[in-house]
Amino acid sequence: MAEQGLLIVLSGPSGVGKGTVREHLFEHYNNDFDFSTSMTTRKKREGEIDGEDYFFRTKEEFEHYIKEGKLLEYANYVGNYYGTPIDYVNETLDSGRDVFLEIEVQGALKVKQRMPEGIFIFLSPPDLEELKTRIENRGTDGPEVIAQRMDKAVEELGLIKYYDYVVENDTVDRAARKIRSIIESEHLKVERNIERFSKIIEEMK
Ligand code: 5GP
Repeated sequence: MAEQGLLIVLSGPSGVGKGTVREHLFEHYNNDFDFSTSMTTRKKREGEIDGEDYFFRTKEEFEHYIKEGKLLEYANYVGNYYGTPIDYVNETLDSGRDVFLEIEVQGALKVKQRMPEGIFIFLSPPDLEELKTRIENRGTDGPEVIAQRMDKAVEELGLIKYYDYVVENDTVDRAARKIRSIIESEHLKVERNIERFSKIIEEMK
């Protein structure tokens, strides 16, 4: 039987650049992990391809998937459903390949409850002080919206403690490289290699 692949979950506050970092990582630093394409009810944006960027589905279809237990997690994010099809994740892990999820914070915490053995990476804004100033100084929002955004940002940053790693998105390339290093290091952990070594030692005795 193949060794199980790793489940890698990249998450973080909205607007932090998860999608951009993930695209860069896949383009430049990935040879051996597979992207889990999510399902969503949001409208397809120009240039997006069904089955590649997302599985674009109606609300009814999505709710059918929920009922059938075919999603590892799902969340309602600004009026649309987003979710991770469970079969693809399990089949890929069972085949020995790593699976990479890029999802928002609520969903990541649900995955953590179901699959705590995953590797949870929090992508944080480059500069927390700067984030605060930016939200406060945003000319476009009224004080109420600013307060809501601040609350949301503070709430999401408070969830860092549930993650294994935090990566600052200072530059896209640096963040992608750090994520690549995390994945490599995780593969080198003794606990993931001990069985192989034990076998060799047994054979050499
Ligand atoms: P967008 O509409 O900009 O593509 O994505 C909106 C948000 O949904 C992003 O934060 C993205 O990471 C998140 N997202 C994408 N797929 C999933 C998913 O399967 N589950 C959850 N919980 N969030 C997702």
